[in-house]
Amino acid sequence: MTDTTEAKTSGSKPWIKPAMVPLRSGLLNKFGNRQDAAWMDTIDNVPVAQLLEQYGAPLFVISEQRLRQNIRRLKQAFSSRYPSVLFGWSYKTNYLGAVCNIFHQEGSWAEVVSEFEYDKARSLGVPGTNILFNGPGKKAQSLRRAIAEGARIHIDHLDELYTLEKISEELKANVEVTLRLNFDTGFTEPWSRFGFNVESGQAMDAAWRIAASEYLSLAGLHSHIGTFILEPKAYTQQVRIMCNFMNEVETRTGCHIDYLDIGGGFASMNSLQGIYLPAEQVVPSVEQYAEAVCDVLLELTHDREARGLNRPTLVLETGRALVDDAGYLLTSVLANKRLPDGKRAVVVDAGVSQLFTAFWYNHNVVPTRLLPGRPEETVIYGPLCMNIDVMRSSIMLPPLNVGDALVFTPVGAYNNTQWMQFIEYRPNVVLIDEEQQVSVIRRAENLQTVTSQECLPAHLAQPYPQGAPDGLVGGGPSTGGGFDT
Ligand SMILES: *Cc1c(COP(=O)(O)O)cnc(C)c1O
Repeated sequence: MTDTTEAKTSGSKPWIKPAMVPLRSGLLNKFGNRQDAAWMDTIDNVPVAQLLEQYGAPLFVISEQRLRQNIRRLKQAFSSRYPSVLFGWSYKTNYLGAVCNIFHQEGSWAEVVSEFEYDKARSLGVPGTNILFNGPGKKAQSLRRAIAEGARIHIDHLDELYTLEKISEELKANVEVTLRLNFDTGFTEPWSRFGFNVESGQAMDAAWRIAASEYLSLAGLHSHIGTFILEPKAYTQQVRIMCNFMNEVETRTGCHIDYLDIGGGFASMNSLQGIYLPAEQVVPSVEQYAEAVCDVLLELTHDREARGLNRPTLVLETGRALVDDAGYLLTSVLANKRLPDGKRAVVVDAGVSQLFTAFWYNHNVVPTRLLPGRPEETVIYGPLCMNIDVMRSSIMLPPLNVGDALVFTPVGAYNNTQWMQFIEYRPNVVLIDEEQQVSVIRRAENLQTVTSQECLPAHLAQPYPQGAPDGLVGGGPSTGGGFDT
């Protein structure tokens, strides 16, 4: 048994059940992960304690410096290897306006997949001509607007193609369109539900249909082969298939492809559940991805100039690899628990409704100060009254006090979009800018913001009939009305 006198005698520390804990500093744990860095007390030189005091917990923090570094590094990696490269910021990965505008200021277009995202890009000031419009569910009204504003429409299926034919005929407008393709790279499960299949001839049929239409012309090819793709060769194969298709479609239908969009999917420095090696060992660098894409693209397009054609612009829609490691979630400990099987548990004030990616990733979790005491296997629960609310199912952590803070990283991708208002209000999101100034970029919700879209029909304006008695029998007081606090 290990000694617990220290915990017992100190009034401020919770009593910790005695347990055998092997010393493991510097060793791999049973999942192959080294213990995470001991603690994190600043983010971009701003003290975490100050952030929590000013903005409360839980709190999302985004680093502007890291976002800019990430996009510049990605741009450098690709532009140094291929002459014409363009980036479209994937809105669904994180569409907070401040985040989008950082990428737009760095030259990225907007890559949107819905009417809402399209509206958001336009409301931020992105011209229609700088929008890449993806998605399987574009409505006719959205397509009409996208045509009028010159957006790049990436066609997902034949019904969308028919709709575009109709609208362009009505408007007598020449529209350059892009086909979304799907195919088997041999490395990833093909996402065959999106776009037109290459192997079956479906994509070529669609290209013929466009060639035959009076107002549409095929100008681009798109594919997005998956997400968190750890094998750069998947992209080499993707580019090969797209270039072959480009040559075939140009030769046969006489169109001219001016851009090849390879979508997103590069992995971020995160640890997928089920992959037990540390992210640093399995996640390729952006330079490795760039090499895998650009070498083959240069080779397969080098004869185009001889044929009087430009090399196609390479378009990337990188999402998570640009934003994930710029995001932090600060959360504070509400309670310590001991489970019947002896396992230690802590309850924190941020749950899976805010950190949606906790379902798929083992995020790094570190305290914000050096914690004395031996690390012990711990499960971290969120505050929701739901069994699924597990923020980390197993992690080595020293004893924590109520009120201690934990930092979850990297959480910048897919949380500020997929989070939901469920049981708890969604918290503040702050940005630390390059001068270490902190600004709120999304205010915490309150009762008013959460209920603002609700309406109470007149007969439901009161919770209880007039004159209902107080107390256990017959319900409570009838003084309430609406959602006033
Ligand atoms: C989601 C998405 C992206 C971004 O994917 P990441 O895996 O986050 O890089 C890019 N393009 C399309 C079409 C998408 O649906």
